[in-house]
Amino acid sequence: MDDNYITLTIGKQKNIALIAHDNKKAELIDWCETNKEILKNHFLCGTGTTARMITDHTGLPVRGYNSGPLGGDQQIGAKIVEGKVDFVIFFSDPLTAQPHDPDVKALLRIAQVYDIPIANNRASADFMIQSAYMNQEYEHEIINFRKNIKERSETL
Ligand code: PGA
Repeated sequence: MDDNYITLTIGKQKNIALIAHDNKKAELIDWCETNKEILKNHFLCGTGTTARMITDHTGLPVRGYNSGPLGGDQQIGAKIVEGKVDFVIFFSDPLTAQPHDPDVKALLRIAQVYDIPIANNRASADFMIQSAYMNQEYEHEIINFRKNIKERSETL
């Protein structure tokens, strides 16, 4: 492996972010209830309203960030960059325009940059949560951000 990439480890206990647009909140709450026994073994966080509703309906502890339209998606994106969120379940609504669409796109993009598993519908979430990797560490390659800065600062 060349040094343009570094190996990071997604731990056995995942840091899972849970987000649902309004029309998808009931579906995500139901999915969390169905998968409660698995989810309780991991660290959970989410955008403000989603986090509160999951806790209220399932009893799972979910750390809440700001509400999505008020910057919650950006906070979760920042946690991905810091290595503090490493798994995302994001039930987005493909049929309704969102005021914070740029933030949604930014979150999807940063998850892609950092090679973070991200499910945007129930079937994807089911496949991810049933993966053997849920009970193991997972090593993946991400861009070597230190080298990236060094090279850019020396060449631009
Ligand atoms: P919410 O935000 O959980 O605060 O509703 C979700 C979103 O719309 O991104």
